[in-house]
Amino acid sequence: MPTDDAIPVDGARPTAPVPVVELREATRSYPGGVHALRGVNLTIGEGELLAVVGPSGSGKSTMLHVMGTLDKPTGGTVRIAGHDVSALSDNRLSALRARHIGFVFQHFHLAAGRDAVDNVADGLLYAGVPLRERRARARAALDRVRLGHRHSHTPNELSGGEKQRVAIARALVGEPRLLLADEPTGALDTASGEIVMELLHELNAAGTTICVITHDHGIADSLPRRVRFKDGEIVSDERGARPGRRGVLPWEGAAP
Ligand code: ADP
Repeated sequence: MPTDDAIPVDGARPTAPVPVVELREATRSYPGGVHALRGVNLTIGEGELLAVVGPSGSGKSTMLHVMGTLDKPTGGTVRIAGHDVSALSDNRLSALRARHIGFVFQHFHLAAGRDAVDNVADGLLYAGVPLRERRARARAALDRVRLGHRHSHTPNELSGGEKQRVAIARALVGEPRLLLADEPTGALDTASGEIVMELLHELNAAGTTICVITHDHGIADSLPRRVRFKDGEIVSDERGARPGRRGVLPWEGAAP
């Protein structure tokens, strides 16, 4: 195998603590002069749980995609678990993603017609795990999100909250260090959203670093760190939960 394609992300932990995410002057521009990220600096340490907030179009999802290596910055540096993503081949990048990063999206992105176990097992497709083990680990992940009674249900037989828990199980089945969630409660009723957030807190307490985009005041304020975006830039970065406030952030209008 050519050395360029040797997978560098073998799980070895460096001795000095390396941030899980490091963005340095990261920019992302699109043709036509759209500057979605305008020089973003952000460091996320191991075990953090943070909210990313800001108006629609301010660059939150773009940053999440860049952090998740689904998109490359047009300038600056992005390091994930110490690896400079712009220096990695596509194979190495896929390996980095499979090993370190899990994703949860607002609209679940589950495969219709496939049961919960198969949907979750797909989270290990690129991790080189044999099918039987993929399915065994998927069942364990579903148990962890308290869906032990829904293994053989397909998405159309599950509630919104259950679908999101399947999506979380799929994201965590590879035991990622970093979980990126884009509006994970945005399509859910309040009670289901609370269950999803409890689950994210639990995963974080067990060591997973989690970054959540949210429009919900209550959620943002309940997390230990809040990074606020405006026009492609970080305009504030606060620490310390602010429990007690509830509702939708003022610029977002009514909840969906
Ligand atoms: P947010 O997640 O805060 O709503 P986004 O990161 O989705 O914001 O978008 C930031 C800006 O980048 C917006 O102006 C959006 O229209 C633009 N943008 C996002 N994706 C693309 C794309 N693929 N092509 C062109 N412009 C895009």
